[in-house]
Order: sequence, then C-alpha cells, then structure tokens
Amino acid sequence: MARRPHALVIGGSLGGLLAAGMLRAAGCEATVFERAADDLASRGAGLGTRDELFLVMERIGIAVDASIGVAVPERICLDPSGRVTHRMRLPQTMSAWARIYRLLKDVLPRERYRPGMALERVEQDARGVTAVFSGGARVTGDLLVGADGIRSTVRAQLLPQVQPRYAGYVAWRGMLEEREIPRDIHAQIFERYTFCLPEGEMMLSYPVPGRDDDTRPGRRGYNFVWYRPTEEREALARLCTDASGRCHGVAIAPPLIRPELIAQVRSEARALLAPQVAEVVARTAQPFFQAIFDLESPQVACGRVALLGDAAFVARPHVGMGVTKAALDAQCLGDSIIAAGGDLDAALARYDRERRHFGARIVAHARRLGAYLEAQLKRRGQREVSELEQRPERVMREIGSSAVDLREFASPRGAS
Ligand SMILES: Cc1cc2nc3c(=O)[nH]c(=O)nc-3n(C[C@H](O)[C@H](O)[C@H](O)COP(=O)(O)OP(=O)(O)OC[C@H]3O[C@@H](n4cnc5c(N)ncnc54)[C@H](O)[C@@H]3O)c2cc1C
Repeated sequence: MARRPHALVIGGSLGGLLAAGMLRAAGCEATVFERAADDLASRGAGLGTRDELFLVMERIGIAVDASIGVAVPERICLDPSGRVTHRMRLPQTMSAWARIYRLLKDVLPRERYRPGMALERVEQDARGVTAVFSGGARVTGDLLVGADGIRSTVRAQLLPQVQPRYAGYVAWRGMLEEREIPRDIHAQIFERYTFCLPEGEMMLSYPVPGRDDDTRPGRRGYNFVWYRPTEEREALARLCTDASGRCHGVAIAPPLIRPELIAQVRSEARALLAPQVAEVVARTAQPFFQAIFDLESPQVACGRVALLGDAAFVARPHVGMGVTKAALDAQCLGDSIIAAGGDLDAALARYDRERRHFGARIVAHARRLGAYLEAQLKRRGQREVSELEQRPERVMREIGSSAVDLREFASPRGAS
C-alpha cells in the first residue's frame, strides 16, 4: 500500500485544526505544531457561524447539533434612546471561539498536536519540506500548511512583501455572563442580534455559549463588538501603551490595557449607545480591543507549502467569515488532494487557483462593508458617496450574513 503523505500544519488555532481534520479526511497524516505551550481554549470571544463551517466540521467527523451555539432569530437596531428603530428576521447561530476549538481539537489524536513548537523557517528540496523550529528541532514532511495567522512566519519567508494593512479602526470587544445582565435589558436584547449605529461607529452585540460552552438559558454569554475609528500613529499607539509607558505595537494583551482607557470607553458608551447596550459595556469586567487589518496574498501555494486561513487572506470581520473561510480553505485543500489522486503538486496548483480567487473577493467585499468606518479619518469633502452614510437596513442585512446569500459569492468557483 502507498505511504500516506504527511502534512506539517503550522499553527494550532482554528485554521490549523480545520486543515489537519480535512487533510486526514483526504487520506493524509497530519501533525499540528503550535507555538503556544498552553491550551488555547481560553482565547477568543464570540463567533458568528455559517452552515458552510458546520458542513466542513461534519466532514471531519464532528456531529454538529444545537449545542454548537445560541440561535438568534432576528436583528434589531436601537437608537441612542434605546428605542427599536429597525427589525429584521435573519436567523443565525452564534457560537464562541473556544466551543469550535474544543470540538476540532478533540477529534485530533493527542500525539498529532504538538504545543510549544515555534516555527522559525521552512526548507524545501526534492525530498519534501522541512520545518525548522526554535531550539533546532527539524521535522520533514511531504507538504506544509502555514495556518499561523495574520503575522504568519511561513508567509513572511515566502512572500515577504505581503503585509497586513490597517483599516483605520479598532474593535472593542467584551463578553458578559447572561446572569449579570439586568432582567429588563435581557428581555429587550438578549436573544437578538442588536445594532447601534452612532455617527461614524458601529456596535453589534449578540448571545453566545457561556462558560464551559454552556448554551442553556441562564448560563450563556453576551458578546459585543464596537468598531471605532482610531488613527494609527498616535491614537492606536496610545491605546497600545501600558501603564509603565511601554507601547506594545498594534496590539496589547487585555490585562495591560490602562484602566483609564476602559473607563473612557464605558463613559463614551453611555454617551453614544443605547442605554441597554451601554450597560452591557459597563458591566463587562475586561473589555479589550483588536485593531482591524486586511491582508491579501498574491498566491497561496508555493512549492509544497500552502497558506491557509488568516495567513493567506484576512477579510475585515464585518463578513463574519474568518473561521468559515479557513474551513473552506481546508476543504479545498483536502478535495484538491483527492481530485489529484494524491499528486500533491497538482493538488496545490488547484488549491492556489481556487483560494486566491475566493480570498480576493471576500477581502474586497469586507472592505466595502467597512468603507464608511474607514472613511471617518478623512475629511467629509474627501469621502466617496458610498462612504458618507451607513444605512441601518443595509448594515443589518449585510453584516455577518451568509456569503451564499450574497450575489458576488454565488459562483460555483467560490463554493469549493
Ligand atoms: C474583531 C474580530 C471579530 C471576528 N469575528 C469573527 C466571526 O464572528 N466569525 C468568524 O468566522 N471569524 C471572526 N473573526 C476572524 C477569526 O477570528 C479569524 O479569521 C480566525 O480565528 C483565523 O484563524 P487562523 O487559525 O487562520 O489564525 P489564528 O487564529 O491567528 O491562529 C494562528 C495560530 O498560529 C500560531 N502561530 C503563529 N506563529 C507561529 C509559529 N511561528 N509557529 C507555530 N505556531 C505559530 C499562533 O499561536 C496561533 O495559535 C473575527 C476577527 C476579529 C479581529
């Protein structure tokens, strides 16, 4: 019997686990190497999901049932007084990063997940591809998948010219336990996807599984994402500066965010957002923020190396598509190997063609959805017509809604 190809997957977050699962389903052996030494389950926050993600999880062998998330039947938009101005039926399941992570990790044999392994570089020759880790360990395989995120070491080596581009705004995020939400506010917003659209900003909030992935009423969580225009050189640098005066670049660990910044966000929430949502922000113990970037790679395969998930393309989160895109990348990689009858070079060529196309379209679409927010740093006279206003009906219909509902993703090439 022919030897099963061995894939080295760099990055053990959702993209890497999805890749390992689909490669195993396609008949490969796959080993995941993750830089972090600890379990990643404490990471992350709420996550909008899509059926495409669940279909890939099922192919990996995970039975997806209602406990995957919290069903949200409709969307509402609140004005600053807390009145519902718009209502739209759009059922969706909201999950949490940790919930999906645990399910994916549990189906991978323990010995196939190697924590504490930081890739330093990749070497390729006629025998295959070798991953060289810090400390000097070397592992050779037939194929290497760079699923090591937006700051990918794999991509930096292969495509050093490709850099993330700051979108001009940050997302303040936070999660609150269901039982901490006052009863009257709970009744008004908890089981809904709620928007507040103050001028120049966008806030969304929704229920997610709670502690230990519990989706039972009373034990769920409530997640918010608040997009706020933030100039890069001074304002973002200020946000990323800790109490000792050290600037951490474009991201800072949540516990290091200065208390006065959190107090300021809470007070601005009271001034700008519906009182129900401002109360959620006020009660969230540790709000944190992420600067929003997008990233486009001109190619996603190079020799025996494939880029996948955020390492390949990052679309702004308005499409709510990051994890689903990683799942579709993984599916395309597995299917390409099957279609090529195990010819890895042909499989990678097909993967490159298809995912490059899809990635570019989704990044462009997410940019359009974020254009109004990005334009806030321009003077009004310099803005394009499409950047001048955000119409609630459009925002509610398009933000985080299913890609297959959008005309530009309807082509079969995008559905791989
Ligand atoms: C504000 C916000 C909201 C979002 N909301 C959603 C949403 O609702 N729905 C959705 O689908 N997506 C959402 N996303 C996107 C989603 O979080 C990402 O697209 C997804 O997590 C990508 O996963 P990944 O595995 O490709 O990368 P990452 O999750 O970044 O994982 C990369 C992994 O590689 C490891 N690594 C890095 N370098 C090395 C190395 N040298 N050696 C070994 N390991 C390494 C890292 O430790 C990490 O574990 C959101 C993103 C943001 C910023």
